[in-house]
Amino acid sequence: MECVNGVVQVRPEIARVEDYIPGESLEAFSERTGVPVERLIKLNSNESPYPPSPRVAQALGSFTQYNLYPDPDGHALIADLAAYTGAAPGHLVLSSGSNELITKLWSVFLSPGESVLTCTPTFSLYTTATTLAHGELIGVPRTRDYALDVPALLAALRTDTKLIVLCSPNNPSGNLATRGEVEALLETGRIVVVDEAYIEFAGADALADSPMALVGRYPNLVVLRTLSKWAGLAGLRLGYGAFPTWLVPHVRKLQLPFEVNLAAHIAAHETLADLSYLRQRITELVAERERLFALLAAQPFLRVYPSRGNFLLAEITDARLAVAELRARMESAGILLRYFRTPDLARHFRITVGTPVHTDALATVLGNIAAQLGVLAPETVSANA
Ligand code: PMP
Repeated sequence: MECVNGVVQVRPEIARVEDYIPGESLEAFSERTGVPVERLIKLNSNESPYPPSPRVAQALGSFTQYNLYPDPDGHALIADLAAYTGAAPGHLVLSSGSNELITKLWSVFLSPGESVLTCTPTFSLYTTATTLAHGELIGVPRTRDYALDVPALLAALRTDTKLIVLCSPNNPSGNLATRGEVEALLETGRIVVVDEAYIEFAGADALADSPMALVGRYPNLVVLRTLSKWAGLAGLRLGYGAFPTWLVPHVRKLQLPFEVNLAAHIAAHETLADLSYLRQRITELVAERERLFALLAAQPFLRVYPSRGNFLLAEITDARLAVAELRARMESAGILLRYFRTPDLARHFRITVGTPVHTDALATVLGNIAAQLGVLAPETVSANA
């Protein structure tokens, strides 16, 4: 047993885990840069720029029984989610954000040394969860446009591979996994986890093609979703997963009693009762995504990738522009974006789709960068475009 100064040390896997770095908070950013919080534009964590349904604050404010624990089985909310997703209630598990289900699922399946297969770049929590579970992440590169490479995934499969995880739309590139691709991977018999945190932004065709409709038909399919993004409930933490029924009790065993707090139950219930409000917000964000895409595509020093999520991945293609320079300009305008530590995304950044006002602020900074580089000033993209 390793001791330092006579004190036992943490497990080696914990010591070697790379921290999952969430998007910086407004407070931390303001302290670091000196820009006041009220002037900040937070486009670094794929949150909604819009408040939740007005019914949420109303219901939370008038509820009088916070002294009691929530229903540990979440029957009422599971019934709401079953109606929303089309999955039968017996397949659904609630969680405190879908992050929680990722770490629990990894613990359910991975013994030390076993592997998880994914297509990179993708959501970095899959790596963190794998290291924490003493496993190994096999990352198969996506194709040039960040599409899934199913033949390469199948070729990389090892006998110790327990889980295959696909993010659809993929964070950070925005690509979808098709139902056919998911089905090809299900044939391997491994647990296939499809993380659909952003599926509500992907359009009716993607929702109709979602593997959610296959849950129950395959004994090895798991679909994860969340109300953090489209429903504007990131701060209240409500995720859920659709599992084959045999797996549900195993995942539940790892959850603490009352893992999902009462405020999240109430907020999710009100959200699902006010879908027309949320659908309007989604329509606005998808329109804004296309406007932001046009703005980024017009910059001669950037390449932007089409996305089905509420975010866009862009790459700096002009060697004269360092990422640190773009970041400094964005930060002095109070704009928080997501930058990456991995070498494959060293010249990339991810922008969450915000309001039209947020896009206008980005346009100003991008215009200044273009002027500094002496490249053609981008055509202005009007708010109504
Ligand atoms: N999956 C993906 C792909 C994500 O990007 C995120 C949020 N960053 C999550 C899951 C987790 O979301 P939450 O825990 O808020 O439900």
